[in-house]
Amino acid sequence: MTFTSFSFDPRIVASIKSCGYVSPTPIQCQAIPPILDGHDVMGLAQTGTGKTAAFALPILQRLLTSRTDSRGPRVLVLAPTRELAQQIDKDFRALSGRTGVRSGVVIGGVGMGPQIKALRSAQVIVACPGRLVALIRQGDADLRNIDTLVLDEADRMLDMGFMPDIKRVIARLPAKRQNLLFSATMPKDILALARRILVNPKTVQVDRTAPVASVNHVFYKTRNEGKKELLHELLSRSDYRSMLIFTRTKHKAKALSRQLVNSGYDSTFLQGNMSQNQRERALNGFRDGRFTIMVATDIAARGLDCDRITHVVNFDMPDTADTYTHRIGRTGRAGRTGNAISLVTLDDADQLRAIERVMNIRIEQETANGSESRDDARQSAKRPSDSRPARRRRRRSGRSRGAAA
Ligand code: AMP
Repeated sequence: MTFTSFSFDPRIVASIKSCGYVSPTPIQCQAIPPILDGHDVMGLAQTGTGKTAAFALPILQRLLTSRTDSRGPRVLVLAPTRELAQQIDKDFRALSGRTGVRSGVVIGGVGMGPQIKALRSAQVIVACPGRLVALIRQGDADLRNIDTLVLDEADRMLDMGFMPDIKRVIARLPAKRQNLLFSATMPKDILALARRILVNPKTVQVDRTAPVASVNHVFYKTRNEGKKELLHELLSRSDYRSMLIFTRTKHKAKALSRQLVNSGYDSTFLQGNMSQNQRERALNGFRDGRFTIMVATDIAARGLDCDRITHVVNFDMPDTADTYTHRIGRTGRAGRTGNAISLVTLDDADQLRAIERVMNIRIEQETANGSESRDDARQSAKRPSDSRPARRRRRRSGRSRGAAA
C-alpha cells in the first residue's frame, strides 16, 4: 500500500513528503481507511508504530473536506502526559503543513493565557485531561463544536487516574461525534471504556502486545548493590548512540544521572519534580544529541519521541509487562533496530514471567559475556517459533525461568 491509495488532499501529500514518510506503516494502512469513512476506531498499537499519523492524517483530511463556519476546536485529542501532548501537537503541525489547520496544546505546568487563545482559534486541541478540566471549569473551554475525539495511550490515562476527568470532558462534548481510542494494551477497564464511548467501532491492531520486533532484549541477573558497576561495564562496551535509562524513583533518576556526569558521561535526567522549562531543556538536549544518556522515571518518559535512542536500559525493572512494552517502545522506532537491556534481581522474577507470557518471548539464560566473575549472567529473549510445544518441553524438563533461571 502507498500513501496515494488514500487520495489525500495535495497539501497533505506534500507534508507527508516533507516529513520523509515514503510508505504508510501497518497501523496507518489499517486505521486510515475506516477513520476517513467516519467510523469509530479502536486501535491497538504501541508507540513507535506510527500511530499518531495514523489518526492525524485522516483527521486533517476530514477537516479540509468538511469546513464549517463555527468557531472553536473541532478535534480534541486527550493524552496522558505533557510530553506526549506536545509531541502529538508537533506531529499535527508537521502534517498540516500549508493546509491552514491550526493546532494547540493544553497542558499543566505552563501559563493558561496561550492555551485560552488556542481554545478560541485552533481547530485541533491536544490536551492533558487535568488542565482541560480546569479551563472548562473557569469557562474558557467551549467544546460544543468538537466532532472528533481521540483518546491516545488510553491505558496510561486510566493508570494515571484520569478516568474522572475524561468523563467530565466527555460530558461537555456533542453526543454525535467520531471517537478514536488508541491503547498499547487492552486490560478490562479499557474494554469497558471502549464499550461506553465507541459506537460500532472498527478494531485495528498491530502486534497486539508483542514487543517492537526490531528490538533485541537482553536480561542481566544481578543484585541491587551490583547494578551501578554493571551499568558502567555495559556503558563501556555497548556501541550506543543514545541511551534511555529507567529508574523506579525520581530521586534515583537524578542521583544516577549525576553519578554518570561525574564519571565523564554526557547525561541528563527527566522526572516529575522538574519545572516545564527544566523538562524541555533536558528533552531538547537529549533529542539533539548534546546528552547521549537520559535517566528517567516512567511518568516523565511517557510520550518521549526520539528516533536516535539505540538502547533502553531498565536499571530498575518495571512493575508490569505493559510498562516494559512502553519503555522498550522508545527504541527500535520507525523500522530502526534497538536494544532493550534489563538489570534483574531475584525480586523481579514475577515481572519476568509476566513479560514472557504477555509478550510471547522466551527469556533464557546464556553464558555470561565478559563478566563471568560476577553473578550477572546474561539472559536473552527469543520469540519461540512454536511457543506452545516449547512451553510444554520446558515444563517437562522442569527448567525454571526468568531471574531465577
Ligand atoms: P508514533 O508511533 O506516532 O510515536 O511514531 C513513531 C515515529 O515514526 C515518529 O518519529 C514518526 O515521525 C515516525 N513515522 C510515522 N509514520 C511514518 C511513516 N509512514 N514512515 C516513516 N516514519 C514514520
